Amino acid sequence: MRYDLCRMRCDYHVHTEFSNDCNVPMHEQCKAAIAAGIHQIAFTEHEENNPREQLPYSFDHPAYFEELTLCRARFSADLTLRAGIEISEPHRYAVETARVLAGYPWDFVLGSLHWLDAETNTNSREFFTRYGDWRGGFHAYFTEMLALARDGDFDILAHMDYPARYGRPYFGDAYDIRDYETDIRAVLAMLITRGKGIEINTASLRKRLPTTCPPQAVLQWYHEMGGTLLTLGSDAHLARDIGSDITVARHMAQAAGFTRITIYECRIPEQIEIGD
Ligand SMILES: [Zn+2]
Ligand SMILES: [Zn+2]
Repeated sequence: MRYDLCRMRCDYHVHTEFSNDCNVPMHEQCKAAIAAGIHQIAFTEHEENNPREQLPYSFDHPAYFEELTLCRARFSADLTLRAGIEISEPHRYAVETARVLAGYPWDFVLGSLHWLDAETNTNSREFFTRYGDWRGGFHAYFTEMLALARDGDFDILAHMDYPARYGRPYFGDAYDIRDYETDIRAVLAMLITRGKGIEINTASLRKRLPTTCPPQAVLQWYHEMGGTLLTLGSDAHLARDIGSDITVARHMAQAAGFTRITIYECRIPEQIEIGD
């Protein structure tokens, strides 16, 4: 490899055409990553077990590993590829999750809360209105997240305040994650106890939101509480988005007091220097 661990640039949340909402071939994402100066990526394809999701159960695992093997061989001089998966509600679909995790050699597992329950997607109008107002929706969301943190099999909790990406029409500028500090500290404590971590997801910056998901305050709390496992990810569904704002995320981590971020192989975390 042409880099040392201090200089390594990683993007640990990338989708390809193996995800139900992405059309970019894996080899195109690899080329885009190299062009963007990224040295290591984790492909984190959507694993959807909710029948209401678009194209549920569509992640073709054998084809993914076949393609990954080809891309590893083709790009190995410039890029390290980690076999990842982004599982929606792993706590609610525990049997399906156990089966897919046991069936393949995953390096990295994101746990996501996209659906509050079987019927309600947290990007939907119903989510923001059903609890009286959007504030009740967020409280219900973080309460459910504690169940995910407690019972789910995953490595890193993805995009902690995901509904913030979609709720602008309902809350305008009034949403402030610090209003949910008690809920979120409970989630963070559970993650730390179980040896799991969080990510800084930069996709919201591309949606013209003022901050990452989660915002700086959560990084501060996590660091104060002794959290160490932290990945950085663009959540790219387009080639041009790979690595986007990863530098911003790195600086946010440093501002919160972190000197290291986390990479994974065979689901075992390794801490690397954030670097310059
Ligand atoms: Zn997601
Ligand atoms: Zn994603």
